[in-house]
Amino acid sequence: MGRAFGYVILGGGVAAGYAALEFVRHLDGGGASPGELCIISDEAVAPYERPALSKGYLLPRGAARLPGFHTCAGANDELLTEQWYKDHGIELVLGTRVVSADVRRKTLLTITGETISYKTLIVATGARALKLDEFGVHGSGAANMCYLRSLEDADKMVGVMRSCHGGNAVVIGGGYIGMECAAALVANEIKVTMVFPGKHCMDRFFTPKIAEFYENYYAAKGVTFIKGARVTSFEALSDGKVAAAILRDGRRLPADMVVVGIGARANTALFDGQLAMEKGGIRVNGRMQTSDAAVYAVGDVAAFPVALLGGDVRRFEHVDCARRTARRAVAAILEPADGAAEVGKNDSDYLPFFYSRVFALSWQFYGDNVGEPVHFGDFSPPGAGGRPKFGACWVSDGLVAGVFLEGGSQEENEAVASAVRCGARIGDLAAELESRGLALPGQESRRKWTRPRGGLAAGCDRPTYAWHATVGVAAAVSIAAFVYWYGWQAPYVVKREL
Ligand SMILES: Cc1cc2nc3c(=O)[nH]c(=O)nc-3n(C[C@H](O)[C@H](O)[C@H](O)COP(=O)(O)OP(=O)(O)OC[C@H]3O[C@@H](n4cnc5c(N)ncnc54)[C@H](O)[C@@H]3O)c2cc1C
Repeated sequence: MGRAFGYVILGGGVAAGYAALEFVRHLDGGGASPGELCIISDEAVAPYERPALSKGYLLPRGAARLPGFHTCAGANDELLTEQWYKDHGIELVLGTRVVSADVRRKTLLTITGETISYKTLIVATGARALKLDEFGVHGSGAANMCYLRSLEDADKMVGVMRSCHGGNAVVIGGGYIGMECAAALVANEIKVTMVFPGKHCMDRFFTPKIAEFYENYYAAKGVTFIKGARVTSFEALSDGKVAAAILRDGRRLPADMVVVGIGARANTALFDGQLAMEKGGIRVNGRMQTSDAAVYAVGDVAAFPVALLGGDVRRFEHVDCARRTARRAVAAILEPADGAAEVGKNDSDYLPFFYSRVFALSWQFYGDNVGEPVHFGDFSPPGAGGRPKFGACWVSDGLVAGVFLEGGSQEENEAVASAVRCGARIGDLAAELESRGLALPGQESRRKWTRPRGGLAAGCDRPTYAWHATVGVAAAVSIAAFVYWYGWQAPYVVKREL
């Protein structure tokens, strides 16, 4: 038995939802014709905004629930419920795992034994959470051990949290998932001990100074950090639960529940040996097209060249990337003659961007964390009700390669994004903020700035002004002075919480 479609999106996550919306936009808001487009997902629900799972979904009160965070909720776009797909003629094949793919024959085989053929395939299979068992530590199946990737995982975590009120949780891993889950556990009045092998939390990204701020903030909320440590086994109870996590040095951490966030792997296995791979993902060009012309890859699974990073092939596990690459692929498929979709031409408008929200904190990062970090702002703990505002610029060859900003207003975040996109000198970053009406103290003469990094990135074509600050410390001091001066006066833009 089998079905045939013009376009098949394999995977039903963030990228799939945004790709579907883009298809509909290209149909001028109309519907697909029967047999034109289908989404196959092993999840039981229509695509949703996955970041909500570690934030709004885990709140003890007023928690986010579907359909409230189907794609494209965070983007203030239409909310794509199952009905939306029906209304637009898009076939949703849910709760159905694809178990093999034949790129030469253009077919997918589902777990139900159905063969689904396509003319064009968009691979949007995302990533999976790494399991402790893969590192020889067993117990992942325990009733009180939680991973967090899917809605099903989140439902399990909510249930376990409810049964652990006032108890102890051990969080294994100090990355995004560990940090966000620890904050959620605290909100649910569970005592948290975080264990990770690194010297500090988010060690592949945060500088020690940034990490120190967050660790102190978490510690003030009662979170205990055990750094440079690994869990090597669990003490099991007879009811299928774990009772404690045992560290390599023999320490025993009592646990009413365990949350594991030790990283993710892109779901590429279906295409091993069939498509070119790179950076742990499926290698695509600037049109998101794989080594097979009929197959595109988007989201967490796609490794693509980023002009802003010198054409370096990168893979990002971030929601903004999933959204943008999905739109890019659909535009390239449906408007093949459109110059904007050609390789290289439009690569430059991808600016790596990621964010996190924990407790009352909210940070954003743009660009790449290469070069020397230059910190600015006030890293001291905020007073009651106060909002911290600080950050770091990564400076490489005198240019701003990346900016991290905690507590930035929408305007400030846009300003730093623009500066990174335009490859600004560090002094120019200060000017960019000023050009948006955020005056800098001690500012001197200005002139038109030209973009030092070759080419003109999207959004960099309007005139703006350069500030004759010396690259490096002087500029950093000015930025620090600015942020300190501006800090508490900036209106805090409340973003729609998921
Ligand atoms: C808990 C959590 C919080 C996050 N928070 C943030 C955040 O704050 N900021 C940020 O930038 N990013 C965040 N991310 C990352 C972000 O959610 C991902 O980058 C994004 O979801 C990637 O979209 P995607 O469509 O590529 O993959 P996914 O959204 O993971 O979707 C992949 C889909 O494919 C399905 N699938 C996979 N294999 C098969 C198969 N063989 N057959 C059928 N279906 C299959 C999966 O079940 C899933 O439905 C978070 C991720 C998680 C898990």
